[in-house]
Order: sequence, then structure tokens, then C-alpha cells
Amino acid sequence: MQGIAASARKAGQVIALVPTMGYLHAGHASLMREGRRRGDLLVVSIFVNPTQFGVGEDFAAYPRDLQRDMQVAAEAGVDIIFAPKAPDIYPSGYQTYLDVEQLTLPLCGAKRPGHFRGVTTVVTKLFNIVMPQLALFGKKDFQQLAAIRRMTADLNMPVEIVGMPIVREADGLAMSSRNAYLTTAERATALCLSRGLRAARLAYQAGETKVTALRENVMAIIGAEKAVAIEYVEFRQQHSLVEVAHAASDTLLALAVKIGNTRLIDNCVLGEEN
Ligand code: AMP
Repeated sequence: MQGIAASARKAGQVIALVPTMGYLHAGHASLMREGRRRGDLLVVSIFVNPTQFGVGEDFAAYPRDLQRDMQVAAEAGVDIIFAPKAPDIYPSGYQTYLDVEQLTLPLCGAKRPGHFRGVTTVVTKLFNIVMPQLALFGKKDFQQLAAIRRMTADLNMPVEIVGMPIVREADGLAMSSRNAYLTTAERATALCLSRGLRAARLAYQAGETKVTALRENVMAIIGAEKAVAIEYVEFRQQHSLVEVAHAASDTLLALAVKIGNTRLIDNCVLGEEN
């Protein structure tokens, strides 16, 4: 991969990278299409990264289907699928990790210790291997995107980070490989996330700015679902991820819940469409 990347760069090509864990869906495809538009050589990595899963999380169960992924990628115009095996990325003796500090402390960072350390480490390794000029990430994983932007700036990585809108099912559920875990009943329950976000956004648009009140709008919907265990419902400034008491157009509302064994996240920025 590094050899192909070096040749492409020598030939003056722009390399676009879409890092994924596979089990590709329309959310991934939208990143690929934008990468296709902006790059000459479009690389999609498919790697279920063991270091970003905690003990007791779903690393072993995470859905995998490389044959199907190859079709989705081909349809989106991908040139190269880079699908390394774990020992290629973490050979024995591996001991180097990268930490983004404050941005990874709250939200998913608090619930999943070590998760973002795994993410930023593998993304750095992918940047070093694929040598892209641009890399595309979804706002679905808002905190991940923030941490990667910070890391890229802090470490002078010559990679433009492109953040892409959340792609949703027709009924509002944010697309996710983990949706495959949901039973029919859980799938219906999961709609409370997008409905909760919408309720808060409508209240904000109607003039409510007190976070305590906006939070009640979300809780009236999500808290009413007995099958949902809430991990967090938080309002934070979208760049710093510092908690706010009064909402503004740049306020991120981020949710994480568990439905059965499935952990789902969703978010919106109150003043934005997506
Ligand atoms: P994953 O395979 O879940 O690690 O996701 C790979 C990339 O696709 C990440 O940058 C995600 O944020 C992005 N992504 C996943 N789901 C969606 C979605 N529904 N809309 C937009 N981007 C997404």
C-alpha cells in the first residue's frame, strides 16, 4: 500500500482515504462518493481495529462481510480497498500509542476508556501507510472527528480532514453497522434517538435556549422508553466539547444509549440541518 501511495504521489495524484471498519452502508458510501469527487486515487480501508474496543465490548461480534463490502465500494468508484490483518498493523512487540487529551475525556471517552487512543493511533498509522492528502470522516462519530481534527493540526499532519453529514434511514435512524444487531422491536425503539434530537432542535428553533429545558424535551422522548438505558444526553460547544448551560447555534447535542446489548450514538448541532 505504501508503495502504491508513493507512486501515485510521484505521478501527482491526490490520494483520498475513507477509513472504515467495514460492513459498509450508505453512510460510508456518501464519504466514498465525496472522496471520489475530490481525489484521483480513492482508498477505503476496512479494518476492525482491536485497540479501539474495550474489554467486554463487541470486537469479536462486530459484523464483517468483505465480499459485500467490495461490491459497495466498487459501486462508489473506489480504486483500492486496503484491508490489513491485525498482526500487520500491530505486530508482536507493538507499543506506540497516541493520545488526544481534553477532547477525548467527556462523552464516549468517559464511557469507553482507551477507545479514542485506539482510534487516533490507527488513523495515524493509516495516514502513514496510505499517505492521503485528504481523509473523510462522518459527523455520526462527532467526537472522533473532533479528536482527529485536533491531532492532525497538533502534529502537523499534511492531511485535510473532511467532515461529512450524518446519513439516515428514511425514518430518521442514523445509519450504523451496529444497527444489524437490533431486533425488529429494538429497531423501532431506536427511533427515539432521532426523535429526541428533533424535539430539542424544534424547541431551540422556537426560542428555548436553557439547556435544562432542552434536555427535558429529549428526556420526554428517550426517557419514556423502558427498553432504553441512557449513557448520556449532553449539550456541548461543538469545537471545544465544553459543556454549556445555554444553547446557541454551535451547540452540539450528543446522545448515547444502550438498547439491549447494542450501543447507539447520534447527535446534531442545534443551529444546523444535520
Ligand atoms: P465505521 O465503519 O463505523 O468506523 O465508520 C467509518 C466512517 O464512516 C466514520 O468516519 C464514520 O463517522 C462514518 N459513518 C458511519 N456512519 C455514518 C453515517 N450514518 N453517516 C455518515 N457517516 C457515517
